[in-house]
Amino acid sequence: MNPKEKKDNKVKKEFIMESLTAVIGKQGEEIIDFLDPEKYVNEFIIAKKLDNTINQTRNILYRLSEHGLVSSTRKKDKRKGWYTYFWKLETLRTLNFLKEMTKKRIEQITHQIQSREVKTFYVCERCNIEYNEENALLHDFTCSECGNVFALKDNTKVIRELKRNLEKHEKQVEAINSEIEEEKEKGDKKKTKEIKKEEKEKVKKRMEKKRERDLKKKSEEKSAKKILKATGKKKKTKPAKKKMKKLPAKKAKSKR
Ligand SMILES: [Zn+2]
Repeated sequence: MNPKEKKDNKVKKEFIMESLTAVIGKQGEEIIDFLDPEKYVNEFIIAKKLDNTINQTRNILYRLSEHGLVSSTRKKDKRKGWYTYFWKLETLRTLNFLKEMTKKRIEQITHQIQSREVKTFYVCERCNIEYNEENALLHDFTCSECGNVFALKDNTKVIRELKRNLEKHEKQVEAINSEIEEEKEKGDKKKTKEIKKEEKEKVKKRMEKKRERDLKKKSEEKSAKKILKATGKKKKTKPAKKKMKKLPAKKAKSKR
């Protein structure tokens, strides 16, 4: 893995972890190491690695699957009659989940900025409690905790902070998008590979069928030869051979 790829992987892992922890909390940081984006992993193995019971583990995985962050297949244990689930990380959906979450956050921040720019806020500078205009009016512009009179809140610092935060989230969406693109490309490449493999299999099967046909043809020729021998038409070997070659070909045609 070259350094750039390594860095990309680190970024992707951080995004995936953010998604997982948004749904299942701190356990997302652990489970990420035991989920595979390429293959399904036995839930008993995941449970063991998490040092959890199978029910706790399933509970976590179900919650993730509700948001499409993991997918599963199941196998029935023929002897015991119960199902074992196998889980796989859905990278693309996990990235999309985080993107949607970040976009919602951007919307919220934008609203906050607008509200700060338009509305007036008051503050008790001693208690550092903030009130909007309506609430300040209800409190008669006096702090109910300390009796201090409210001051007009200077929003410039808050707005600056919010705008910085907004920019950070917008950059995050861009970064997620590029990871999504990369993941899609990877998926396309995999698909093309699979299609090529399928084509190869088809050609192989066709060749096998042809070989079978040829073999059948040969054995038919052989038996035809035997019949000819048995019926005593073996005077001149050469012309007989010619005849034999024609015979099965005709047969094959008329069969179709
Ligand atoms: Zn106060």
